[in-house]
Amino acid sequence: MKTKNTKAYGTEAANAPLHPMNINRRELLEHDVEMKILYCGICHSDLHQIKNEFGGAMFPLVPGHEIVGKVTRVGEHVEKFKVGDLAAIGCIVDSCGKCENCKDDLEQFCDEGVTFSFNSPEKYLGGATYGGFSETYVCNENYVLHVPETLDLASAAPLLCAGITVYSPLKHWQAGPGKKVGILGIGGLGHVAIKIAKAMGTHVVVFTTSPSKVEDAKRLGADEAVLSTDSEQMKKYIRKMNLIIDTVSAKHDVNIYLNLLKHDGSVVLVGLSPELLEINAFSVVSGRHSFSGSNIGGIAETQEMLDFCAKHNITADIELINVQQINEAFVRLQKGDVKYRFVIDMASL
Ligand code: NAP
Ligand code: ZN
Repeated sequence: MKTKNTKAYGTEAANAPLHPMNINRRELLEHDVEMKILYCGICHSDLHQIKNEFGGAMFPLVPGHEIVGKVTRVGEHVEKFKVGDLAAIGCIVDSCGKCENCKDDLEQFCDEGVTFSFNSPEKYLGGATYGGFSETYVCNENYVLHVPETLDLASAAPLLCAGITVYSPLKHWQAGPGKKVGILGIGGLGHVAIKIAKAMGTHVVVFTTSPSKVEDAKRLGADEAVLSTDSEQMKKYIRKMNLIIDTVSAKHDVNIYLNLLKHDGSVVLVGLSPELLEINAFSVVSGRHSFSGSNIGGIAETQEMLDFCAKHNITADIELINVQQINEAFVRLQKGDVKYRFVIDMASL
């Protein structure tokens, strides 16, 4: 199969710095769209993968899955996009399209294995898919999203992963008027979750380990913010919450949060701790609590989320960087030193 060479930033080994490299994208198939990447967000999942914290990282690895850009070429049978359109790609770039999960618009759970935008087996070229820290992306039109024109492109990029990852469980577990929803961990995902949950009309309580984020959470729209390391403050929330979205990226005690639930409430895990989490039986049996999880969202729901964010004027609070600053950005992300998402201006590549 013909390929086209393109510039990227990636790494050949775990924990090694990212550097400029050249990669191949496939030549357009009849339903493929090529886009020039304008902006790409940096998610904590990119950091987990370049450190190979879950095992199985495929090197050379080019991260990046919060991608927005402009369509530069289309395959001969593409119907949904034309050259010059704004377009976005999130975590999913292919799936079987035939299994029960795909038919239910849950491509992320495809029985044959979803193809993620980076670090997944590339069906056509072999090797791994390469993510958005690059000049271009080539993808089947069915996995490309339309970006509403009213959204600022750089700060909309994080919606493609952070946005859908919190929108999907907030909707599934019915956040809305009359409900008290907790957001645990105020990073890239958590700060967008505050904005989306408020737009859904729910009462939002933030739980953070960072004193500086207690005030900031209110600026972001939270009704209440609690320093989770202060056990006196935490006691006030016992049996008060309907739902808690847990975005914490490392090992932590989830029992503390299960104990904040009303009867039949749920803690929904979206954060991916590389270490096992432990659950005390009484944290779930008392109050018929659920501990559950959620993984990004399907393509149709991602488009719905983008349209919802456009309607409510929601984007991420970002720090725009050049691609040459990427290693420094990963060090700062590891320390939680970003308010609240790094986005790379790909014009710097
Ligand atoms: P992030 O920007 O680094 O935010 C994570 C936040 O978690 C931090 O800001 C901090 O919030 C809190 N935190 C970190 N370490 C902690 C610790 N040891 N104990 C308690 N709190 C801690 O990361 P992100 O990009 O939002 O991603 C969050 C997690 O979700 C990552 O694991 C990522 O891989 C995962 N993720 C999952 C999905 C999915 O579909 N399930 C999708 C995207 C990302 P405070 O300062 O407020 O305490
Ligand atoms: Zn992500």
